[in-house]
Amino acid sequence: MELLPAPRTFAYRIDDHDRITFFNEDWLEFARENDGAHLTPSNVWSRPIWKFISDPETRHLYRLILSRVRSGKTITVHMRCDSPTARRVVELQIAPLPDGSIAFDSRITHEEARAYVALLDARCERSPDVVSVCSWCKKVDVPGEGWFEVEEAIERLHLPDNAPPPQVANMVCYECYRGVIDRLSG
Ligand SMILES: [Zn+2]
Repeated sequence: MELLPAPRTFAYRIDDHDRITFFNEDWLEFARENDGAHLTPSNVWSRPIWKFISDPETRHLYRLILSRVRSGKTITVHMRCDSPTARRVVELQIAPLPDGSIAFDSRITHEEARAYVALLDARCERSPDVVSVCSWCKKVDVPGEGWFEVEEAIERLHLPDNAPPPQVANMVCYECYRGVIDRLSG
């Protein structure tokens, strides 16, 4: 009998001062795959999570979520966590613990391969241009037209294949913002 690899679950916890007090190996490995090899146990341990969430809109949403969770509610959200060669949906459960800390547990619920997208490759050299990407759904803003899946946005923005992609500014699109707010009030 052939055993399939166990699905990875990514877990971390923060204390009542938002400092990371626990993470499992899968979480650190996944964070390194997405954000870079600079993430080591010693520079994650005991750091505030805000050090790892740079854009103001995503920070704002997380602050609202944490405040709701600290009032005793467990929140489950879905978000995209794409790589340059895969579309991935992650389910994230955020739950209060009795000692005032908060547990974040996530798993990939859907994953499909796609052709390599340089715009999503953190190692890629960049042009001086900037595009906005929603940190929640990973759609890209096409000014005056709306938010689109990255492949469609690249066509609509006429980004050439053979030149460095623009820089990415993370933000949260209106649809994702509303979705989280509705989840918090439900
Ligand atoms: Zn979005």
